[in-house]
Amino acid sequence: MAVAGTGNEPRIVIVGAGFGGLACARELGGTKAKVTIVDRQNYHLFVPLLYQVATAALSPADIARPIRRIVGKFTNIDVILGEVRAVDAAQRTVRLADGTELGYDRLVLATGSDYSYFGHPEWAALAPGPRSLEDARRIRSRLLISFERAEMARDPAEQQLLMTTAIVGGGPTGVEMAGAVAELARYALARDFRRIDPRRARIVLIEAGPRILSAFPLSLSDYARTALERLGVTVILNEAVVSIDASGVTTARQRIDAGTVIWGAGVQASPAGSWLGAVLDRAGRISIDADLSVKGIEGVYALGDTALAMDAAGSPLPALAQVATQQGAHLGRSLREHLSNGRPLAPFQFRNRGNTAIIGRHAAVFDFGWWQLKGRFAWLLWAIIHVYLLVGFDNRLRVSLQWLWAYITYERGARLIMSDARSKALPE
Ligand SMILES: Cc1cc2nc3c(=O)[nH]c(=O)nc-3n(C[C@H](O)[C@H](O)[C@H](O)COP(=O)(O)OP(=O)(O)OC[C@H]3O[C@@H](n4cnc5c(N)ncnc54)[C@H](O)[C@@H]3O)c2cc1C
Repeated sequence: MAVAGTGNEPRIVIVGAGFGGLACARELGGTKAKVTIVDRQNYHLFVPLLYQVATAALSPADIARPIRRIVGKFTNIDVILGEVRAVDAAQRTVRLADGTELGYDRLVLATGSDYSYFGHPEWAALAPGPRSLEDARRIRSRLLISFERAEMARDPAEQQLLMTTAIVGGGPTGVEMAGAVAELARYALARDFRRIDPRRARIVLIEAGPRILSAFPLSLSDYARTALERLGVTVILNEAVVSIDASGVTTARQRIDAGTVIWGAGVQASPAGSWLGAVLDRAGRISIDADLSVKGIEGVYALGDTALAMDAAGSPLPALAQVATQQGAHLGRSLREHLSNGRPLAPFQFRNRGNTAIIGRHAAVFDFGWWQLKGRFAWLLWAIIHVYLLVGFDNRLRVSLQWLWAYITYERGARLIMSDARSKALPE
């Protein structure tokens, strides 16, 4: 089936309504372009708060919002729910999984990334990482089911195994997960059970390198490690995971039996680059020029996690929401200008708004490059900024109130085991 454009207006297809794709679409709202957003989900997801869904602090609806709702006010923007499978750059068409073909004059690829299991795709089922709402729900269910099973177990060794959570990867995702799981066990779950004491839960963070948060300055890494250890997290450094199975992980030096294993290690770009036959780096990112156009392929642009963009010093820009958002907004503005007066697309320049990771109640780190911040004030700043970044979300007030409530009461209201996970994991 072919969907044709209606007139002579330039057709811009944006694949992916994550941070980058949505920022681009918003800048093109109200222009003469006919913009089509294609996403395999009908919602935009605020990925940085996924770990809070995974650890029962927030509900899925708190961090997701329908794409149609966000761009509904722009009559020149269409939304299609579908998964892109191929691009024919010569014919300028995009093909969806159901066979639909969309013609384009300009194509923006903003399809994000996924976790890389370092050549072990079989680990994905054993050790989910928080990348989608389904992942977060799966992790939450596994964590909660493990404690339920520990409550029923008679053997103390089995109880301890079930109350152990191993988290692989000491980057921001692993650190945030470790802090949040520790708080879930020590505070919220501690009051729920009769036979086990969840405060005895073991949380182990395993990092292959010599320090956690390696992208942050050393002082912030050290602070994060101390803050995690204060929460009772065991931090293991310089040990790569060599195998994962249903009852734990093995590193080069030791075995860690665990009821739940969570992945927070490497990042792999979406397969968008392979649709184009474009130049890719080892992580599958598409090589782009300064104006975000794909090298050697006319009319196609890539941004966010799926693109390899360089900073002024020639180093790759990190896979961060702020990079994707700035690139999307820049490309949208450039295309808008180009459509109205033919001006060539401007080169993109990244402005670092600060890199952050939260370690738990009262503890976070912020790195602005020229200034570093840690502790309570960094935590407060993190909370304010993240609520502010939920802009356009009806639930901004709800999330703020929920955090405030959780802060005062230590409560985690979303402690729900969803039925799909329960039927597979709970013993009959
Ligand atoms: C747990 C976690 C915590 C993070 N915390 C932070 C943080 O605190 N601060 C920060 O700056 N960054 C953070 N990041 C990184 C940040 O989330 C990403 O850099 C950002 O989401 C990238 O934006 P994007 O637009 O490239 O892709 P995404 O936001 O991932 O959006 C990609 C979109 O493309 C869609 N899509 C993918 N493939 C297809 C297809 N074939 N067809 C149709 N649609 C498709 C997806 O459904 C999705 O909607 C975090 C990441 C993770 C995983």
